[in-house]
Amino acid sequence: AQHFLARAQQHQALGAYVALNEEATLAQARAADARIAAGTAGVLEGVPIAHKDIFVTRDFPTTAGSKMLVGYQSPFDATVVTQLAQAGAVTLGKLNCDEFAMGSANENSAVAPVGFDAPAPVRNPWNHDHVPGGSSGGSAVAVAARLAPAATGTDTGGSIRQPASFCGITGIKPTYGRASRYGMVAYASSLDQAGPMARSAEDCAILLSAMCGPDPDRDSTSLDMPAEDFSRSLNDSLDGLRIGIPKEFFGDGLASDVRAAVDAALREYEKLGAKLVPISLPRTELSIPVYYIIAPAEASSNLSRFDGVKFGHRANNFTDLEDMYKKTRAEGFGAEVKRRIMTGAYVLSHGYYDAYYLQAQKVRRMIANDFQNAFQDCDLIAGPVAPTVAWKIGEHGNDPLADYLADIFTLPASLAGLPGMSVPAGFGAGGMPVGLQLIGNYFAEARLLNAAHRLQ
Ligand code: GLN
Repeated sequence: AQHFLARAQQHQALGAYVALNEEATLAQARAADARIAAGTAGVLEGVPIAHKDIFVTRDFPTTAGSKMLVGYQSPFDATVVTQLAQAGAVTLGKLNCDEFAMGSANENSAVAPVGFDAPAPVRNPWNHDHVPGGSSGGSAVAVAARLAPAATGTDTGGSIRQPASFCGITGIKPTYGRASRYGMVAYASSLDQAGPMARSAEDCAILLSAMCGPDPDRDSTSLDMPAEDFSRSLNDSLDGLRIGIPKEFFGDGLASDVRAAVDAALREYEKLGAKLVPISLPRTELSIPVYYIIAPAEASSNLSRFDGVKFGHRANNFTDLEDMYKKTRAEGFGAEVKRRIMTGAYVLSHGYYDAYYLQAQKVRRMIANDFQNAFQDCDLIAGPVAPTVAWKIGEHGNDPLADYLADIFTLPASLAGLPGMSVPAGFGAGGMPVGLQLIGNYFAEARLLNAAHRLQ
């Protein structure tokens, strides 16, 4: 823990951490040492882990990347944080992310990283002029730059897989419902899932086993399935494994450098005995409008809790209750969050609900069905995580659509609730990392991790 805290201090310029509390970390580490000495060590005893600042924590402040929550201190730990702590993990600190996990480049954080007195970009350790991806950008940077051995992330539409790909690490989003959402600041509840981001599939498997499990009293969508040992089949042979290659993931929008790295990884799988099977996910393009209707709709509802009354920011000067709500929300939310709230309120409003929200829900179901058709012919699906390598900080300027379009390959699995992961596949333009995305059917996490492990 001391080693990683020192590295976190030394590399503040990367902007990865938003909160450190050395005293709390070292107290947890000493407790771990005591359990090791007493012979009662858990599987992760003493392993330092940093958490995306979207998980509430008792020993560290939680901001979800928003001014709205600056100064907020949770009275409890998120279930995922508790489960990792029960396995012996020691919390290093909290990691930067896009405000309420809305973003693809970590450029939407409104919170000052440790060592800064104003918000600052999170920098990709492979090239400091490039974004780390988002929204779990701080998590990917912390692992890639060895400021933490592993981190938690959350993935609503790609926020574990895409930053893992951009920073050259491994990350997995399990099947929706595998990990409890209790204590994860809600963005789009029907999509939000927690998962680990680490240096290898093996580390991810160990962490994921500790993070999953039912939480019936606290998250009604958590699955009634016992925790699994996701490491059990890491070394299984891939002989005869059918890997589906969706043609829609390899169209004109895919940059040639990313395509080359992904193709090279697929050749490796063939050498390992897998068979590549052409498949189709015909509604891949529709996943963008569908996601950017459903996620903002749910966000507009979830974020209504930030009203200046219960917790978080409250405007100083106001005339009456309505004025207090308006000023609090105008001051507390950033531009992208406001854009999502407005979009969400619009698509849910009387007169537009059927045309947008309901229609999007129907297409969402068709996207999920397309995957089930595809899984008739293959065991796993593989393709790129993102159309390009990490872009330059500021390159997308004030064009939110540029960010939305870059989510095209991660959104389908999210909408279907399927497990997906990113595994390092090589390097593209400018020496920036490229991830290979693996998507499995429901509950196929062990198989995904097996395929990822064999590639490493
Ligand atoms: N980039 C997507 C968005 O902005 C996904 C983010 C996420 O998975 N949290 O909504």
